[in-house]
Amino acid sequence: MSVFYDGGCSCRQVRYRMTTKPLFVHCCHCSWCQRETGSAFALNAMIESDRVQLQAGDVVIIDTPSASGKGQRISRCPRCEVALWSTYAGAGDAIRFVRVGTLDEPSRLPPDIHIYTASKQPWVQLPPGVPAAAEYYKASAHWPAESLERRAALQAKYPRRG
Ligand SMILES: [Zn+2]
Ligand SMILES: [Zn+2]
Repeated sequence: MSVFYDGGCSCRQVRYRMTTKPLFVHCCHCSWCQRETGSAFALNAMIESDRVQLQAGDVVIIDTPSASGKGQRISRCPRCEVALWSTYAGAGDAIRFVRVGTLDEPSRLPPDIHIYTASKQPWVQLPPGVPAAAEYYKASAHWPAESLERRAALQAKYPRRG
């Protein structure tokens, strides 16, 4: 098994590589993710932007409304328009939310936590043993130490703007 996590869009114009494992994987059951995916939830791997490398093609960035009101920027293939990752005002450009379903082997990254379960579809049964939050959660309570250290390094490098 590769140490990398490779993925891409449906038409294969855009190919990307996550060079390490992500910080944390969210399974988000919010109504915004349901609408944007046309499905019951979204699976997002949070990772430092400089650990995501384009291997082929380029993305177009589409400004899209978000629940916070501050918007998200979704990177899509310019040809087939599959969404590959997003950045959010809250986490900033330094962290990407990579759509796990676009990886070649998405089963390597199961959810570390289920969030916004208050709005999950009633037929979705959450697996025992995986943390779940009715809305959001504190990273310090759930992230592994290594991921918290990586986040601290990022915050030192990109101090939060206003
Ligand atoms: Zn494509
Ligand atoms: Zn969501």
